[in-house]
Amino acid sequence: ADVVLSVRNLRTAFVTPAGVARAVDDVSFSLSQNEILAIIGESGSGKTVTALSLMKLVPTPPGKYLGGEIEIDGKNILALSERELEDVRGKTIGMIFQNPRASLDPSFTAEFQLVETLLRHNPQLDRTAAQAAAREALIEVGFADPDRVLASYPHQLSGGMCQRVGLAMALACQPKLLIADEPTTALDVGVQAKILLLLKNRSRDTGLPIVFITHDIGVVRAIATRVLVMYGGHVQEEGAVEDLLATPHHPYTQALIRSIPDPDEDHGSMTYIRGEPPNLLAPPKGCRFAPRCEHATGRCRDEVPAWHNPEPGRYVRCHLFDLEARQ
Ligand code: SF4
Repeated sequence: ADVVLSVRNLRTAFVTPAGVARAVDDVSFSLSQNEILAIIGESGSGKTVTALSLMKLVPTPPGKYLGGEIEIDGKNILALSERELEDVRGKTIGMIFQNPRASLDPSFTAEFQLVETLLRHNPQLDRTAAQAAAREALIEVGFADPDRVLASYPHQLSGGMCQRVGLAMALACQPKLLIADEPTTALDVGVQAKILLLLKNRSRDTGLPIVFITHDIGVVRAIATRVLVMYGGHVQEEGAVEDLLATPHHPYTQALIRSIPDPDEDHGSMTYIRGEPPNLLAPPKGCRFAPRCEHATGRCRDEVPAWHNPEPGRYVRCHLFDLEARQ
């Protein structure tokens, strides 16, 4: 398959007065056309810092890229200058964020912002063509009355509408990759489902690969083709969505899936993972999940587990699979 994004041994940290927090620690993955990769984890897992690193958007300082490579559509992202990045962001990489208004400027109409974005990234367009493309982009994200939306300022639109305008803006430039950081978390369930479907259809129809950051297993199930589970700055497990959700291998993934409320049961049946996420200033020496894992042994506390490949397409970082492999 055509690999669009490849991340190798990425290490992103924050240098603070209290020490160096290794937020993303030796993370590798790749993404091809037609794939939607969900990166899932609790807050502090490193998923958002991974997403920001892909666009070289981690504020430095206090952030620092300690090592690794990110290649998107043949470009070595971490080696680009700020000027080169301005063109890559928006044109090569589309982005949508959790705050539905984050992509929009409150002082301009949706039309002005869409048209300016299109013109900036497509200098060959004239204004009339850009206006037509802006209108078309709004129809593609499901607006039945694009002219009313074009004439509106962000404060005249609901959160869900703003997120769709932001998405229209991101997609109108025909990016090679879309990065979506919890784009539906702030929206109600109906609007959330609509946006997930839009993204899924877009990826299926045009091949657009999407990196989708979320903490919600329900969202993973609805949108992803592949899943990367992060915990404590490490990737812990990776696999195709159906396989991983049906037979999670890593004890952390198992706990995450168990913590979804069962719709047939009363509240209170939800099993939370006990304990706190690791302090990244002083992470556990061995497996990052050891302090919370019910299977932890002395070895788990001492040694970082290696990667295991128990089945084709499945990867897991856990000592339990070491034992299995030796039997
Ligand atoms: Fe649990 Fe040990 Fe596996 Fe870590 S390596 S998840 S502590 S069993």
